[in-house]
Amino acid sequence: MKSRQFYVEIQRDKVLKTLSNIYPQLARFNPPEIVLSNRLTKCAGYNIQEQNLIHLGNKFFQNNSLEMFAVILPHEIIHQVDYNLFGYSDKRCGHGSNWRMLMLQYGLPANPYHEMEL
Ligand SMILES: [Zn+2]
Repeated sequence: MKSRQFYVEIQRDKVLKTLSNIYPQLARFNPPEIVLSNRLTKCAGYNIQEQNLIHLGNKFFQNNSLEMFAVILPHEIIHQVDYNLFGYSDKRCGHGSNWRMLMLQYGLPANPYHEMEL
């Protein structure tokens, strides 16, 4: 059986491919590194844009696997893509107008927050 890390990276590459169809210049950027962290228990994921790095809470996959792959991972990748395309967000939290536009173009509602039980 392949590891969770393997499937997360497959999904990352799919999300980036979808976005690259709209923004071909994304091909110039390396895909963000994904770290599955056992220490995240409050938020399901976060992106460090300057480091091209995404942390996902490994424990959230147990009860919310579908949402982690279909929503949280794209949400965090879109933070990175927002930075790659447009630089720093106009909103401090990172859910500015460009982030919301990218979410909608990707096909997700532009909801900044998610309720998930561990
Ligand atoms: Zn966010």
